[in-house]
Amino acid sequence: MSRAADALLVQHNLKALNLTNMARHFEQQLRQARDGGLDYSQFLLELTELELRIRCENREKRRLKEAKFPLLKSLETFDFEAVPQLDKRLVRDLAAGDYLKDRRNVILMGKSGTGKTHLATALGIEACRQSKRVRFVTGYALANELIEARTEKDLSRLLGKYARLDLLILDELGYVPFSKEGAELLFQILAERHERGSVVITTNLGFADWTQVFGGPNMTAALLDRLTHRARIIECTWDSYRLKQSLKGGRKKTT
Ligand code: ADP
Ligand code: MG
Repeated sequence: MSRAADALLVQHNLKALNLTNMARHFEQQLRQARDGGLDYSQFLLELTELELRIRCENREKRRLKEAKFPLLKSLETFDFEAVPQLDKRLVRDLAAGDYLKDRRNVILMGKSGTGKTHLATALGIEACRQSKRVRFVTGYALANELIEARTEKDLSRLLGKYARLDLLILDELGYVPFSKEGAELLFQILAERHERGSVVITTNLGFADWTQVFGGPNMTAALLDRLTHRARIIECTWDSYRLKQSLKGGRKKTT
């Protein structure tokens, strides 16, 4: 059989084996291997590595899309110099993802504009890069989603979906108080994830103020107990980054 016919059959077989990237790049790789004088195993190595690399890239893209980040704020664009009070090493450790393996939570507390959402998103992006299943959602939106699902009797499906995540990022917990039903449902999500999967929370509240948001002191205490158990807590005690930037900009303009 001719070389061209062989190549066609190989591509057909690769597709049948679901090795679509190898099939797509087969001819080009084969040409390169011949030109470069690669032996059989080197050629096969290159072809299989290409399949693995493209699959990995596609999985990362899929994870990023599924996570529904409002903005793709990564660690690369986070200015550590601007916030010397932040424990940079802790953030780097978290980015490496051990807390996900240990199913620990991370709580980012502090005033508006201090970079909590940016850091939470950056940790989420790192988790996606490690092929983890991530979902970013505000506390308010999640409570609403759960309340709506309850009326549609979709609640158990939804609870299952959130339980399967490797990382749930709950942004802006405490900006808007929950209804009793919303608080109870949110409690259920967090209780089910307890020690099964990590949660990253951003909040402008100190723990003492959580009762106002979750209603009853008993539920708040139970919730805090679970959330803070073995959690890494990052207190963003500095001033708003945005404010600092605009002050700097203003000063530049006047000088
Ligand atoms: P928070 O969630 O604490 O209110 P954000 O994360 O939304 O604050 O930050 C407000 C804005 O400032 C965002 O655009 C964010 O990207 C930016 N920002 C905050 N801190 C930093 C930082 N240290 N480096 C770069 N950008 C920052
Ligand atoms: Mg925020």
